[in-house]
Amino acid sequence: MSVLIVGSIAIDTVKTPVEEHADLLGGSASYAALGASFFSPVNLVGVVGDDFPESEFAFWKTRNIDASGVTRAHGKTFRWSGEYAWDLNARETKSIALNVFENFQPSLPETFRKTDFVLLANIAPSLQLHVLEQMERPRFVVADTMDLWIETARADLDALLPRVDLLILNDSEAREMTKETSLIKAGRGICKLGPRFVAIKKGEHGALLFGDGEFFSCGAYPLEDIHDPTGAGDTFAGGMAGHLAGTVKKVHFTDLRKAMIYGSVLASFCVEAFSLDRLRKLRMDEIAERYETFKLMSQFEAPEN
Ligand code: AMP
Repeated sequence: MSVLIVGSIAIDTVKTPVEEHADLLGGSASYAALGASFFSPVNLVGVVGDDFPESEFAFWKTRNIDASGVTRAHGKTFRWSGEYAWDLNARETKSIALNVFENFQPSLPETFRKTDFVLLANIAPSLQLHVLEQMERPRFVVADTMDLWIETARADLDALLPRVDLLILNDSEAREMTKETSLIKAGRGICKLGPRFVAIKKGEHGALLFGDGEFFSCGAYPLEDIHDPTGAGDTFAGGMAGHLAGTVKKVHFTDLRKAMIYGSVLASFCVEAFSLDRLRKLRMDEIAERYETFKLMSQFEAPEN
């Protein structure tokens, strides 16, 4: 089955303590769509400006990403710039220019409205709701969010939550949303706000999963060289949603455990290079190999002979 993905498509500038790169392809939907495309066809919805490279549309085609929901508007593409500290979990947004995003009201192509799986990647919750309202009874809705929306659009976010099956957010956002210091209380608390399942990302420390009265925790792949953490969360969400869409009809907690490992595997590749550079070259056999490593890493009893 396909997954519909809506989010930002951006041109980024990223600075780490050792490197800086400008005019990179980025945006929550760009990362999520490429992540998902390893497991299922993608219906992509977003907006770009006159300056956005046509070559990206050609690339999407080669990856089974249907971009007929991506509008080319008059003006400049959304731009974001961020800087990381030595602790790569700490990031500061240096500038944002909404540009063509300012007046974006996504209108789904007729053929997209019946898509069974939906990933509302990180954009304003009002736009996420607007997309959901155009869908014909999707089977499973995944949503991502960020601190900005918790702080500035809480009412819209609260309206969205009961319509979401799986909410994905990071640890500081979960704490901010619930005013809890314990992530366990935060995860369980967010489930009470509407979503059936909640995944809390902890960067290099892995992720937690809550819902249906169950709990799961996984580590992150132990990478030595991280070049650019940008998009890791979006790729994680894309990997999870794509894997569910590609393999499952009715989602159970056990399916989400597995999808979370695939999300973590993809995120670990994403951070190995700037922008989408590593994901563009990634092969299925490399994903499968890292998935097996994850399995071995989480075994704590010696296998019986
Ligand atoms: P992540 O590292 O997973 O938080 O995602 C980084 C990506 O999100 C970058 O490529 C940015 O272009 C995009 N981004 C940053 N701020 C926003 C925003 N306010 N709305 C939508 N996308 C954003």
